[in-house]
Amino acid sequence: MKNSALGRIALVCGAAALAGGVVPATAHADDATVERKILPVLVEFSDSAFQHPDEVKASTPATYFGTGKDSAASFFKEMSRGKFAYVPAAGEQAVGPVKLSMSAAGCDYNKINTLTQEALAAQGLVRGEDYESLSVIFPAQKTGCAWAGLGSVPGPYTWINLYGTASGLGVVGHELGHNQGFGHQGRAMCTDGDLVDCETDGTSAKSIMGGGGPEAGFSAPELIRAGWLSGTEAVKVTASGTYTLRSLHGEGTGTRALDIPMGEDRLVVEYRHAAGTVDGRIEGVHAYRVPKGAYGSSSLIDLTEENETAGNSAPADADAVTTLTDKASKVSVAVLSSGNGKATVEVALNGESLTGKTSDEASGETTKPAANPKHTGSDTDAGDGLPASAPDTKSAGSTPAPTSDASQDLAATGAGPGTLPLIGAGAALVVVGALVVLSRRKRA
Ligand SMILES: [Zn+2]
Repeated sequence: MKNSALGRIALVCGAAALAGGVVPATAHADDATVERKILPVLVEFSDSAFQHPDEVKASTPATYFGTGKDSAASFFKEMSRGKFAYVPAAGEQAVGPVKLSMSAAGCDYNKINTLTQEALAAQGLVRGEDYESLSVIFPAQKTGCAWAGLGSVPGPYTWINLYGTASGLGVVGHELGHNQGFGHQGRAMCTDGDLVDCETDGTSAKSIMGGGGPEAGFSAPELIRAGWLSGTEAVKVTASGTYTLRSLHGEGTGTRALDIPMGEDRLVVEYRHAAGTVDGRIEGVHAYRVPKGAYGSSSLIDLTEENETAGNSAPADADAVTTLTDKASKVSVAVLSSGNGKATVEVALNGESLTGKTSDEASGETTKPAANPKHTGSDTDAGDGLPASAPDTKSAGSTPAPTSDASQDLAATGAGPGTLPLIGAGAALVVVGALVVLSRRKRA
């Protein structure tokens, strides 16, 4: 087996309570662009400064707002197809470096956040007025943070623990995905073809939230969570039928995802095909389990024996499904055709049999629009671990913010121990990070 010489990529997840966080409104699909003012701020510590501050200062506006494909603004514009935009705050593309009166050691990201906001206020920059989202970038050398980035889920805060001179879309795009309410996307191995007994194993490789990097973009459950697919683009399936899917990403019209009831959960089906800057290495129909309507916490359903991903030279359609059945909820899906930018998928509900025929053959229709296809409300999205209103943890007495949930390495190639990083449940805003690119190392 050929072993990749790529740098080892691992997901590291840290979870901790954050007091006083603010939950942003979730964007919903309509014609208007939801603009969000984000302020990147370079900060330094009393005992640690950037080694090359001029280079960090020069790279930061390009990382967040550049017109090239590698900026966060370009990435979110493409993924939302213009429904969501990160824009500079108060005319500033970046602020700093700002010196904080605290030492770097201990990775006290709450204190970093608080002191940064105080420093900004002293400059006349107030959160909620001058900026809505805050991304703090600081030198990593002495912090001891076990992550390259951290983001509130959902929320307005990201932290970048910077080793080099540029943050990069891989980390920034992933953390801003957390801000949208997306957790880490895992992989459920359901090797007997039924969805009742599945083992969590690694990450999906179908999303920047699942070790796929920016070139994977976001998956259909995440686009639904964000409100970036309209009701006709993400069709809520209410009856057995055959549906034609276009590619999940890219300009144009058509159905991009099927949202199927599966007991208390949802089954989301998408067709992936190269489009724009993403999915050059993802092809075929893919399926996800959405637990109890928490679209930000979906897992890829992998029916194969091997956990293969694009990261270890697997073919682009290694994880594509051809047929699957959930005996418990009596749902079956069969892919009738797939390729060249579109797929035909048959769905059978209520234990009904798959016909294996396209709707053209069966009834002359190609799609069956759902009676009520609108995606509204996010009250069922609490599975992301976030209550609608986060109690202040200070009210719980002098107990310090829990920093449980030890970091876990999750090899993006799927070769690791493969425990899905669960977002810690709790009565406070949960923070989850991060994508860490560890040092390059060839392995024998
Ligand atoms: Zn993360």
